[in-house]
Amino acid sequence: MRLMEEKILSEGKVLPGGVLKVGSFLNQQIDCRLLKEMGREIARLFSGCGITKVMTIESSGIAVAVAAGMELAVPVVFAKKHRSSNVDGQIYSAPVHSFTHNTDYAAVVSRDYLREDDVVLLVDDFLATGNAFQGLILLCGQAGARVAGICAAVEKGFQNGGDALRRAGYRVESLAVIDEMNEDKIVFRPQASTVL
Ligand code: 5GP
Repeated sequence: MRLMEEKILSEGKVLPGGVLKVGSFLNQQIDCRLLKEMGREIARLFSGCGITKVMTIESSGIAVAVAAGMELAVPVVFAKKHRSSNVDGQIYSAPVHSFTHNTDYAAVVSRDYLREDDVVLLVDDFLATGNAFQGLILLCGQAGARVAGICAAVEKGFQNGGDALRRAGYRVESLAVIDEMNEDKIVFRPQASTVL
């Protein structure tokens, strides 16, 4: 998505450790015009797939997921992060290792919001190692729901999480894929399918 690539180039900051800071338009302040276009683009990519629900993980994925959910006219459900994996009750729970915080947590979602007949589009702000999406896939599996696609606003292709998910058979469409980045340059993977 050209708009996303331009925004990353003009406002993104590459931090040591392979982290891209996008606080000015995605992670703390949100560029609502860009967000709206992201929602439109995600809906364009996945329209006709029979999506019944968009799913993400708190908190930074929620805005992008809501933008997509509004365009697809389906509900958005977000998994919550629990410090302990030892949570009981009427929930599905999956362990996730956080790349940015280097900690483990349990992603949990109420059984009321994920059903066997759901066709789910997984959305997040970033796709790096793929741990967060793998956690969401486990939650969908526990519910018997089908994962129809995966979409990250920004995929860090050099961390290989996205390509591992593609090899596993998932349709992964990221709005911008970074194949290389350092303080001097950011190299995007050419993409055929996005139009905006
Ligand atoms: P993964 O589980 O794929 O390794 O990482 C995805 C999660 O880590 C996302 O939910 C995102 O919040 C966070 N994340 C990973 N890499 C970055 C990054 O470079 N910048 C920011 N802002 N968040 C990241």
